Amino acid sequence: MALNGKTALVTGASRGIGRAIALRLASDGARVAINFAGNLDKAREVQSIIEGNGGQAMLAQCNVADFNAVENMIKSIVDAWGSIGILVNNAGITRDNLLLRMKPDDFDAVIDTNLKGVFNCTKVASKFMIKQRSGRIVNMSSVVALNGNVGQTNYAAAKAGIIGFTKSAARELAPRGITVNAIAPGFIDTDMTAAMSDAVKQATVERIPLGRVGAPDDIANAVAFLTSDQATYITGQVLAVDGGLSM
Ligand code: NAP
Repeated sequence: MALNGKTALVTGASRGIGRAIALRLASDGARVAINFAGNLDKAREVQSIIEGNGGQAMLAQCNVADFNAVENMIKSIVDAWGSIGILVNNAGITRDNLLLRMKPDDFDAVIDTNLKGVFNCTKVASKFMIKQRSGRIVNMSSVVALNGNVGQTNYAAAKAGIIGFTKSAARELAPRGITVNAIAPGFIDTDMTAAMSDAVKQATVERIPLGRVGAPDDIANAVAFLTSDQATYITGQVLAVDGGLSM
């Protein structure tokens, strides 16, 4: 198995894309820490699927926007399993509104979770990876970072920030044997996109060259590749997994 003996932390792994990533990394042999904000039942479900398949998983509840909480979470993973080899910064939220109606709190909440959360987890995990002289970090951006989107100035700013963060961290950490890449998903079928009206969904699908909405597993496949030994020479990249939407 490609990731035998590796330890992974997946943020926002209770639902949607993070859930699919956690299940995939576990099926590739990694021990997986399942981070989530509050949805304990859903996180436990992911843990029991992994354990039911003979894998190892632990729950790691914490708000990724809270630096001290992140520090405690990652220390407890390293205490339990001895290392952290893979970090997938996937946790994210939306607080959509037109710029003129967007409340400053909604801007801050999205930046804090989606961008500062990536800084918090990467800063703490990379300290351990530097000591190990190896590590894989994958950050979840979005096609919205590349093209913008009406009603998502906060979200697009955070996701574009992740791209700059990824490239800078990739340069800093490359000499230590750590790769840092980003994935820019298109329109993926999860709770996050469930709130869109059927008309908006239909209009979006019509703009996707491959003609379908993405599945969480489409993103998990890309993460599995970027964290595997097949991707040792890839760093600082942004991989769009979007059915061609951002072309
Ligand atoms: P989702 O279904 O809404 O799931 C979000 C996950 O993030 C949940 O596990 C949630 O935990 C967790 N989370 C939220 N705030 C958190 C916090 N402060 N600390 C820790 N965990 C937190 O979202 P998704 O669609 O799978 O999206 C996953 C990532 O992909 C996000 O970064 C999103 O921006 C990005 N993305 C998604 C799409 C798409 O079309 N779906 C497209 C582009 C990019 P709880 O269950 O405990 O709430």
